[in-house]
Amino acid sequence: MHWPPTPDDFARLRETLAWVADGSPYYRRLFAAAGVRVADLRTYDVFLTRVPRTEKTDLAENQRAHPPFGEFLAVPREEIASLHTSPGPIYIPRMAEERGGTPVLKEAIASMGVRPGEVAHVTLSYHVMPGGLRLHRAFEEHGCLVINGGTGASRLQVQIARDYGATVYAGTPSFLANLGDTAREMGLDPRRDLRYRVGFSTAEALTPALRGDLQATFGVELFDHIGEAQIGPVAGECRAHDGMHLHARDLFCEFLDPGSGEPAEPGGVGELVATQLGRHALPLVRYAPRDAYRLLPGACACGNPAQRVAFVGQVGVIQKVKGVLVHPAQIHAVTTQFPELGRFQVIVEHPAGQRYERAVLRAGTTRTPADPEALRRSIAERLKATVLIQMDVELVPESDVPEAAGPPRFAEAVVKR
Ligand SMILES: [Zn+2]
Repeated sequence: MHWPPTPDDFARLRETLAWVADGSPYYRRLFAAAGVRVADLRTYDVFLTRVPRTEKTDLAENQRAHPPFGEFLAVPREEIASLHTSPGPIYIPRMAEERGGTPVLKEAIASMGVRPGEVAHVTLSYHVMPGGLRLHRAFEEHGCLVINGGTGASRLQVQIARDYGATVYAGTPSFLANLGDTAREMGLDPRRDLRYRVGFSTAEALTPALRGDLQATFGVELFDHIGEAQIGPVAGECRAHDGMHLHARDLFCEFLDPGSGEPAEPGGVGELVATQLGRHALPLVRYAPRDAYRLLPGACACGNPAQRVAFVGQVGVIQKVKGVLVHPAQIHAVTTQFPELGRFQVIVEHPAGQRYERAVLRAGTTRTPADPEALRRSIAERLKATVLIQMDVELVPESDVPEAAGPPRFAEAVVKR
């Protein structure tokens, strides 16, 4: 999948839409109500303006009204092979022929330099949700020996990773950190007694600080990956570690400006709107999980031409500050580079009679900085360089910053006065 879409991408999309409009009662009704006929969708522009989006809440509400699958189902029940569930709960049936992102994950695993025959330790949940099993299948198909570690039981997990000689870790970065602590408690050296050399990090933000810690603890090269429960893998890092390549081959991905709804340009921020291509038991058309990504401009050093993206965060908390769309997680990525800082809050004011907005970062300190003036200056410089906004920086005790401003929700992180 390319962004903006190529004629081939669009042709595959139209084929799928014709199948969905025929098979799924939900979309048949939605298209009829919107006056959409697939035959009329000649260009991407027409598709963009005519076909309604499917929000996560639409899916959940329709499933509650018509349990278990809602009116989305596009195949007879006899064709369903697996039943996955994502938080909500949202029910995700899958046909045996649906590969559920496995081919894409196999490619991602190969591009991390994982060799067939290596022992891969998968620590995502295998219970109820699709993530663990999906990764397990992909590593198996790549030719790895796969440990179905699952979550929790960290002492046992350290023991089996050590005894089986696991060299590949797959799971959240925080659980990997937990395995490092547990190994030390058990009197082991995480670097020598565990032999992880490659890590597939997913389902959580891999901050620069956490990546650095884990590299120091294990000597592991981590690759950040992102996916979504309903639509599967979306993007992952290559060995250049400069953003994540969009690797979703069976998804038609749109990235739309959260304000205008227009296609986002390189360098800009766009909300992901995804349509599953091909036959799916529960097809999703223009599904919007409310995730925003920055589209990284330019070519990647690795030579892979696939669009690179960086996850920005949930669309609801993105705000326009001095004309720039900002997600608090971007600011968080800057403040976490300074060990003296904790929570923060941005106050945006538009003083009467003034032409421009003024933005103040109230940076909460967890200990007294040695040189407050130098700290303020370097925070402001780094914000300017990465978030592209000039902000005044005030240092305040962390207790002066409301807890609701903190991660992961950042509900009060940006306040407009
Ligand atoms: Zn690359």
